[in-house]
Amino acid sequence: MALKDYFKNYPNEKGYFGEFGGSFIPPVLEEEMNRINEAYYSISKSHKFISELRSIRKHFQGRPTPVYYCNRLSEKYGGRIYLKREDLNHSGAHKLNHCMGEALLAKYMGKKKLIAETGAGQHGVALATAAAYFGLECEIHMGEVDIAKQQPNVLRMKILGATIVPVTHGLKTLKEAVDSAFQAYLKDPVNTIYCIGSVVGPHPFPMMVRDFQRVVGIEARDQFQEMTGELPDNVVACVGGGSNAMGIFSAFLDDPDTKLHGVEPAGRGIDKVGEHAATLSLGKPGIIHGFKCYLLQDEKGEPAPVYSIASGLDYPGVGPEHSMLKDMAKAEYHYIDDQECIDSFFELSRLEGIIPALESAHAVAYAVKLAKANPKQSILVNLSGRGDKDLDYILENYGFPEDKK
Ligand SMILES: *Cc1c(COP(=O)(O)O)cnc(C)c1O
Repeated sequence: MALKDYFKNYPNEKGYFGEFGGSFIPPVLEEEMNRINEAYYSISKSHKFISELRSIRKHFQGRPTPVYYCNRLSEKYGGRIYLKREDLNHSGAHKLNHCMGEALLAKYMGKKKLIAETGAGQHGVALATAAAYFGLECEIHMGEVDIAKQQPNVLRMKILGATIVPVTHGLKTLKEAVDSAFQAYLKDPVNTIYCIGSVVGPHPFPMMVRDFQRVVGIEARDQFQEMTGELPDNVVACVGGGSNAMGIFSAFLDDPDTKLHGVEPAGRGIDKVGEHAATLSLGKPGIIHGFKCYLLQDEKGEPAPVYSIASGLDYPGVGPEHSMLKDMAKAEYHYIDDQECIDSFFELSRLEGIIPALESAHAVAYAVKLAKANPKQSILVNLSGRGDKDLDYILENYGFPEDKK
């Protein structure tokens, strides 16, 4: 299917990607989502919106981000490993791509306040950045466990003028933060807008966030072709909710010779519920936060507890589009555990001078496995973010590799 037709068909007008997605929400929220959906179609396709967003991407975000060939990593493991450097996007991760889009839409809709959840704090920082840029209020809901783990990002959000709402129930991580942010949004859906942090949630969010992230894939495909004269054999991205992966995958969906690989966190091991977040590998279809997707579930069918060393990946659901791509066999999904992630974190830092986010280190670790198995192939990794936010946590809990010997 040509790319243009793919985007026309997925999602359909009810927000479905095959059997996944849709919107399973109370009627008040449904009305609001319809309003956002209509605004998205009428506003975001206008020449004014497109040219304003284009200018923001260039002058504020610093796009296009480069594609970089990893000399030493490729030499060590074989294969040809390239990175799409989303760590160089302003505020340090791919998330600003959709936050600037969502906030610009909010401004056009006359909203006063942006509300969101955050896990690693990256979405919160990106949204607080966007709110400051547009002069909008910003309220970020964050689990207490993540607040303790991600102090630098908490401080950044406050410096940028956002209000932090600590979430103290359940596991006090990402899922509970989403619940809490939804509640706050429902209290005043007219003046506020809920800015989801990934390609998840009820229609139209999975579509909107994907569309705002498409810039990553469009740039990367062109850049890779310009550098090598061909398309990559493999594209690799980590998958939490799936926004950075959808961003880069979306440009290659009509390229049958390019394989797409999503990488989920195996945490401390995939044998036990609560120790990982390998949703597409081990979940079953279910409903979470107003949409249908592969879902890690307990015996009662409720979302299961999840864990990963990377706070941005520990979500029991996953984007509906990834759920569909898995069933269509358009993309494959794999997992990488905490230790493999840490090893890759240090290796990329020391071989290439690039300190990756723990989330992105999952993608690098899988790319290295692919390179070892396929030394003749090229691999384009979406390096979704930089690792500055993770340094304290890693050094306190793991230390330097040489100290272990
Ligand atoms: C949030 C985050 C992710 C995970 O989110 P996706 O929606 O799956 O992309 C990955 N990498 C970084 C650096 C993040 O901040």
